[in-house]
Amino acid sequence: MAWENRNGKTDIKSLSLSELEQELAALGEKPFRAGQLYQWMHQKLARSYKDMTNLPKGLREKLASAYACTTLRQVQMQESRIDGTRKFLFALEDGHVVESVWMRYKHGNSVCISSQVGCRMGCRFCASTLGGLVRGLLPGEMLDQVYAISLLTGERVSNVVVMGTGEPLDNYDSLVRFLELLTDEKGLHISARNITVSTCGLAPQMRKLAREKLQITLALSLHAATDEKRRSLMPVANRYGIGELMEACREYFEQTGRRITFEYSLVGGVNDTREDARLLAALAGPLRCHVNLIPVNPIKERDYVQSEAGRIQVFKNMLEKNGINVTIRREMGRDIDGACGQLRRSYMQEDQTC
Ligand code: SAH
Repeated sequence: MAWENRNGKTDIKSLSLSELEQELAALGEKPFRAGQLYQWMHQKLARSYKDMTNLPKGLREKLASAYACTTLRQVQMQESRIDGTRKFLFALEDGHVVESVWMRYKHGNSVCISSQVGCRMGCRFCASTLGGLVRGLLPGEMLDQVYAISLLTGERVSNVVVMGTGEPLDNYDSLVRFLELLTDEKGLHISARNITVSTCGLAPQMRKLAREKLQITLALSLHAATDEKRRSLMPVANRYGIGELMEACREYFEQTGRRITFEYSLVGGVNDTREDARLLAALAGPLRCHVNLIPVNPIKERDYVQSEAGRIQVFKNMLEKNGINVTIRREMGRDIDGACGQLRRSYMQEDQTC
């Protein structure tokens, strides 16, 4: 994997330490330089080669001409007055923008990152997919969302969720390299157990991920407990049925020992009845999954509405009665463009009109 940007240059932040050693050897450099360079990028979070002051100037110049070094430029930031959540819009080197979110919880700070520019999965309630897929992000571009936020907030990031724009398993190799670099003890060393990857349910890639035996949490966006209902919300359900997804979840649990989370966005009058809850419990029970209920965040392009608060509570109680471990996702940053992809979308729409 060359990890090339669109100008055909290798992105140096996407390389592993051993790849970096090989690259530097090819440039006639001593092996310890790779370690220094890696530390600058992944621990000291240097923004450019210029900052890497213990590297000889000649080497820095050589690196700058041979490799691209991802940096993101903040183009917007919204901060919630309610809970301090900050939503960032970052421009990539090629001018496309991605959004990332910083959330402060009692147990530490969490960053939600995007894995692709746009998305091709087409989930009906999601704003990220309305303009289709532009491209997948490089590992360095995913890392840099965490690094940039860590620098901008001046605070340690303890949790990372890959739940922003994009389908992470549709950008599989980049995702796995990103996870390797993020958890590396020579980098930010974020514990794998504090990382969650959310998928709309690409069953073959879920099984492949199981075999990587990472200790991350895998979250499956289920949103419906029957194939028919799921197909009405998520086109990907035409490719992989619930039976196949449950098989993939079982394999993930067997290979990693990690319980799966089911995400279930409650859409008023669509998937929020007692019967829906009963069917969901029947799926989650045998796998001992955790269920995370998300009141749907309405987007203006679709007429989906949130379930009433009372219904959400009944739904939760039904699951609990069936022995399911369930939480309702706290809505963070309600007063800022909350739903996935909304900030990027409103930015692009403004951009087109001026
Ligand atoms: N592609 C991945 C990750 C991105 S979305 C996935 O599908 O899991 C993260 C979660 O937010 C998913 O469960 C997604 O279905 C959900 N989501 C997207 N838009 C939403 C909205 N408007 N309201 C509620 N949940 C939404």
